[in-house]
Amino acid sequence: MAAAPLYCVCRQPYDVSRFMIECDICKDWFHGSCVQVEEHQAVDIDVYHCPNCDDVLGPSLMKKRNNWHRHDYTEPNDGTKPVQAGTSVFVKELQNRAFASGEDILLRMRGEQVTQRYLERHGFHYPIAVTEMEGLGLKLPPTTFSVKDVEEYVGGDKVIDVIDVARQADSKMKLSEFIKYYTKPHRPKVLNLISLEFSDTKMSKLVEVPDVAQRMSWVENYWPDDSFFPKPFVQKYCLMGVKDSYTDFHIDFGGTSVWYHVLWGEKIFYLIKPTLDNLALYEAWSSSPNQSEVFFGDKVDKCYKCVVPQGTTLLIPTGWIHAVLTSQDCMAFGGNFLHNLNIGMQLRCYEMERRLKTPDLFKFPYFEAICWYVAKNLLETLKELREDGCPPPNYLVDGVKALIGALKTWLKREPSSEVPDNIRPNHLIKELTKEIPKYDLPICREHPTSPSTEEAIQGMLSMAGLLCSKTENVASSQEPWWPSPSQHLQLEKRDCEQHRLQGNKSLIDSQGNSSSKRPKKGMATAKQRLGKILKLSRQNRVFVQHS
Ligand SMILES: [Zn+2]
Ligand SMILES: [Zn+2]
Repeated sequence: MAAAPLYCVCRQPYDVSRFMIECDICKDWFHGSCVQVEEHQAVDIDVYHCPNCDDVLGPSLMKKRNNWHRHDYTEPNDGTKPVQAGTSVFVKELQNRAFASGEDILLRMRGEQVTQRYLERHGFHYPIAVTEMEGLGLKLPPTTFSVKDVEEYVGGDKVIDVIDVARQADSKMKLSEFIKYYTKPHRPKVLNLISLEFSDTKMSKLVEVPDVAQRMSWVENYWPDDSFFPKPFVQKYCLMGVKDSYTDFHIDFGGTSVWYHVLWGEKIFYLIKPTLDNLALYEAWSSSPNQSEVFFGDKVDKCYKCVVPQGTTLLIPTGWIHAVLTSQDCMAFGGNFLHNLNIGMQLRCYEMERRLKTPDLFKFPYFEAICWYVAKNLLETLKELREDGCPPPNYLVDGVKALIGALKTWLKREPSSEVPDNIRPNHLIKELTKEIPKYDLPICREHPTSPSTEEAIQGMLSMAGLLCSKTENVASSQEPWWPSPSQHLQLEKRDCEQHRLQGNKSLIDSQGNSSSKRPKKGMATAKQRLGKILKLSRQNRVFVQHS
């Protein structure tokens, strides 16, 4: 039996999981870690001399830099090639660009206000910024927590994916090597770490995700303990980026919503609404060959710049297209979650990933499997609501409709390998479909035949959901969108003022917002509110059917 060939100074057989480099002189292969060459450094070497050969021939020959604006810095700087995303020229230009203000779209809320109940009532369509995190349920290490502490808790041997920002390329290295790089006074390149998921490490106990993310999460609510598929871990990421790190425009995998908290340093988010127009533009840009040479923010009507300083938590809803600049060395924590509020948009994002042929590594793990689990659970929810005589909220009806459509499509595709064993797909789809039409009575939303006060109030409270559900079905090129957060808040403020006039002070909090306390009685107010909602819906060109 022939022995396996041996390589490197360590004379070991080939191991697919370890990065290797070939000596350009003796043609032997070497483990990067045995000869102190990191994967990201290999691209800078023109002619590699291994430790044996450099005794004779001297050190390796390095590539020569010719430019600061191309992913390949050896390309000639003759003014013929455009600037590419991530390069140092790009980052400088980015900081001088003009953007719409993030304040136009950000909902500024206190931690205690960001509840599942709030989002169910108002929808989760705009990013939320929280500066007073009390009540959010988010637990974090102290602001003195350093990158060395991360190494301590996670273990330096963990292999991580880092992004070489100037090349927008991915490479692997040990966490200990990254920390060494991070803490050196001179950094020869910009490396960014955004994919360190630490749920399965000792660091996990130092971080609790915001209550709202935990409570709404599909994985937390619907992933069965006995699932054949491994449970997706996407809840806890630690992000460590050095100044000038840049992540180009993207949508989070599977259309997940995401929370970020900046523990120290600063990040700048460039945010774009997921309107149908913008999503179509994004898809075209993503599949274009010169993607890195085109700034996507210039392709859309509005791109909002949003500075996220130390101590701020940002929640980004489903589908928002965003780029991120690390404006100062930064440590941030974050996590992704799927939920029931924007099922249609989540599915739309997933289908887009498929069309763009996104590699599995960058997709939500077992997205289709979780959708089957969710379908099974939502069937029970719909049944229970029906038995209790409660109409399901609009977001749920629309979400389940979208889900049924997606499940049917997936079943027709080959192979539909992610249907969990204990689920009878066709039966489930049939049962789910049966639960839907009973509630499909849009007429009632506007003109209840016998409107009880409670119904009227329910109707107006679901405003955001109503607008959302209707707009999602309108596929015109000038599709309307959800009312902006400022309209949203103004509406609430006006309502509060009315109550102030009526002498009901208890409804108004210190900021003049009505927060979670709602009027319980008063048909007049409810009617006025409905009036406003209809006016608002017309402004947004929402078509509400009359009987
Ligand atoms: Zn070796
Ligand atoms: Zn050699």
